Amino acid sequence: MKNILITGGCGFIGSNFVKKMISDKSKYHPVILDSLTYAGNTENFNDIEKKSYTFVKGDICDKDLVDNLFSDYNFKAVFHFAAESHVDRSIDGPGKFINTNIFGTYTLLEISRKYHSANNSNFKFIHISTDEVYGDLDDNGFFTEDTPYNPSSPYSASKASSDHLARAWHRTYDLPVIITNCSNNYGPRQFPEKLIPLMIINCLDLKDLPVYGDGQNVRDWLYVDDHCSAIKTVYEKGNVGETYNIGGNNEIKNIDIVKTICSVLDELKPTKNNYSYSKLIKFVKDRPGHDFRYAIDAKKIQNELNWFPSESFQTGIKKTIEWYLKNEGWWRKIQNKTYKQERLGEDV
Ligand code: NAD
Repeated sequence: MKNILITGGCGFIGSNFVKKMISDKSKYHPVILDSLTYAGNTENFNDIEKKSYTFVKGDICDKDLVDNLFSDYNFKAVFHFAAESHVDRSIDGPGKFINTNIFGTYTLLEISRKYHSANNSNFKFIHISTDEVYGDLDDNGFFTEDTPYNPSSPYSASKASSDHLARAWHRTYDLPVIITNCSNNYGPRQFPEKLIPLMIINCLDLKDLPVYGDGQNVRDWLYVDDHCSAIKTVYEKGNVGETYNIGGNNEIKNIDIVKTICSVLDELKPTKNNYSYSKLIKFVKDRPGHDFRYAIDAKKIQNELNWFPSESFQTGIKKTIEWYLKNEGWWRKIQNKTYKQERLGEDV
């Protein structure tokens, strides 16, 4: 079994990725390094056998801890998910984003470099990033791997910085790095600050559905399990030093996302008075610096690595809503402990 380090493995995408790697016929043993910020949740692993993974609570900025993990586990790969990930929180307090996303990535790259040059093994560092590093688009065009970086928010600027570091460690030190830039994810276990779970939970609580601005902003949505399969494909078949854009060809306006959630819930869990959840939609003050449109050109990963998404938005959103309906305990605990769907990042 190959020991692999998965940073941020208790978060949304990281936890889905841990499960994907474990399900691959005992090929991988994930060691999860996660500091359990508000977004990390060990309950995400309640349904898997304890011996199939190792969990270490700790910070990716802790050089000695990361160094010890490398010498204890002889990692064949690092999958670097750990990050502060929410744009609105980065508007309220950018400091943590600079620390975790930039300094934390630097720490992991440096220890990986030491380990890689000492062992010269078949090691790979997979750096997980976002399409937000490219800035935004008007009505036309797509982000390709050659699109110049032009980040807008403290979050995307910190992720752009971490991408530059990862690329530099490959170019300068020959560290075997691969970078992925993915569009917006949705699916089970996403923290309810993000658009889709926020809207689902607000519907179920019969609260207003706050849509930023006029709701015309466009995002390109990918079901989380498809993102995880793309990352696994990139690790197993991708070329070192390359960047791969990952997307689902699902460009949808925010207002249409909200209306779709309402109509799926109208069917699955009608309100007592039989009125549509869409009555709860409320347009609110826009996000400062709100990017207008993201759209990924994913031809490179499709043509070179033969990766394609399995879910359409219609199938993925239904699975997602069903998950939140079945797992009310998961999100009620979050409501009771850390986050009650309040507006973030409004005032600057
Ligand atoms: P998330 O916020 O759900 O999870 C982040 C995880 O990282 C949490 O478990 C948290 O506890 C952990 N973490 C944060 N700071 C840490 C630190 N200093 N040390 C150790 N652990 C720490 O995020 P997510 O949505 O799962 O995103 C994962 C990665 O994917 C991020 O790098 C993000 O930029 C990238 N990404 C996300 C999306 C998306 O739509 N969610 C899209 C493209 C790329």
